[in-house]
Amino acid sequence: MSFNETDLQSALKKYFGFSQFRGLQESVIKSILDKQNTFVIMPTGGGKSLCYQLPALMCDGTAIVVSPLIALMKNQVDAIRSVSSIEGIAHVLNSSLNKSEIKRVKDDITNGVTKLLYVAPESLTKEEYVDFLKSQKISFLAVDEAHCISEWGHDFRPEYRNLRNIIKRIGEDIPIIGLTATATPKVQEDILKNLGMSNAKTFKASFNRPNLFYEIRPKTKNVDADIIRFVKQNSGKSGIVYCLSRKRVEELAQTLEVNGVRAVPYHAGLDAKTRAKHQDMFLMEDADVVVATIAFGMGIDKPDVRFVIHHDIPKSIESYYQETGRAGRDGGEGHCLAYYAYKDIEKLEKFMSGKPIAEQEIGHALLQEIVAFAETSISRRKFILHYFGEEFDEVNGEGADMDDNVRNPKKKHEAKDEVRLLLEVVNKTGEIYKAKELVNTLTGKSNALIISHKTHEQSFFGSGKENNEKYWMALVRQILVSGLLRKDIETYGIIKLTDEGKSFIKSPKSFMMTEDHVYNETNDDTIVT
Ligand code: ADP
Repeated sequence: MSFNETDLQSALKKYFGFSQFRGLQESVIKSILDKQNTFVIMPTGGGKSLCYQLPALMCDGTAIVVSPLIALMKNQVDAIRSVSSIEGIAHVLNSSLNKSEIKRVKDDITNGVTKLLYVAPESLTKEEYVDFLKSQKISFLAVDEAHCISEWGHDFRPEYRNLRNIIKRIGEDIPIIGLTATATPKVQEDILKNLGMSNAKTFKASFNRPNLFYEIRPKTKNVDADIIRFVKQNSGKSGIVYCLSRKRVEELAQTLEVNGVRAVPYHAGLDAKTRAKHQDMFLMEDADVVVATIAFGMGIDKPDVRFVIHHDIPKSIESYYQETGRAGRDGGEGHCLAYYAYKDIEKLEKFMSGKPIAEQEIGHALLQEIVAFAETSISRRKFILHYFGEEFDEVNGEGADMDDNVRNPKKKHEAKDEVRLLLEVVNKTGEIYKAKELVNTLTGKSNALIISHKTHEQSFFGSGKENNEKYWMALVRQILVSGLLRKDIETYGIIKLTDEGKSFIKSPKSFMMTEDHVYNETNDDTIVT
């Protein structure tokens, strides 16, 4: 079957009532209709669902959609059913169905009524389902939230690792569509590899959210008062306040309420009824603020969330981006305010201590990135986008002035000589060290690794002594963002020179360095965790 552009437009109008595709949607849909393996990377709210829903409705056969969350699947199925008069057009296949419901789903698929079948990855492992699906006409298989396949994503789910084998058993030639809102190059690579679709056509939308304002404040013992003040200044607006622990969620929700804010708590420890009630209150604007753990948010489609506050810094930049991304989805104002104290990082590190070593190393590497993000004084937008493998023009780019650092710039100074020194150390030590060892080498501090490579005996050992560790660490981060160095992910952060870095050593150029924020890390009286 072939479709032309008019077919696509009229299908969009007919099924969804929209008159135009957004961003890359049309190209993605064409790729799927061409039966190509397709990989879609779009930020949350970018309109990913439509990318597979529309071709599913247009194609012969049933599209299988793998999704990790049962609640989300239900919402999607209800939405599809509401635009079509045929109930069987979309189904969920999961363990909660009884025998007759399963029979109904199977009959609808066999009779060609069902266009979209949502399944959780664990249901797909059932022999009975695989055997059944093998005998059916399957149009394509969509893997939603495909980052769940990667340990480097923010939501690793081991069941996702089996998907490739199962897909093969259902049908070798079925096109696969992977979709995710996680844009780090490492996660992308993992997805393509694990789904066996290295030949996929890849569509990546920009991750820039120009309407979001990013701000980090030091976390002191007055954090609650500060949050109350902020919320009151924004009274009547919808907002989410994320806390790490359930206890803090309860306490802060109550404190806000006492202060006249219509706030409700939300966390996985509340019973399902209360959770649903609080979520509805937020959606229906009977509550302005939800104080929540990260259990809240996946699949919440409230376009006019005006602020997202992080009482505790999240465990990775992806999590920060996902959670702040719930603000301003309508394109309007969205203030993202996070409180940061290094003590919170230590706390997050402690949480990881019981986990397998590889997982700990990954967790640690991700934490280092969020520390760098919090402490940086360069454009926060540039920092985030660089993390996602995207260049950003900090002068003319969209939303360039939308963060605390850009609005209140710190003094810059010429650091050409220091940059050269640092790059030379990377070069002379043979590109084997992570940031910590490089900084130690510059400041003349040895450790076991440095001694084992005899770096402490080299003439350049201690050659950057006139600056302290913090200075050098800040410089490493800024050079990484500028692209003269890169961090090797496979090795959890070994620093390598880029081609630009190599030519900088030969002919150094001006490099204006901004010093990082210095947050009070050690004074226990002022830090609340
Ligand atoms: P994602 O899965 O990428 O987070 P969704 O698929 O939930 O995003 O889409 C976000 C919102 O955008 C939804 O409310 C959806 O109905 C809407 N949307 C998607 N495509 C279009 C379009 N072409 N025109 C108008 N609205 C759209």
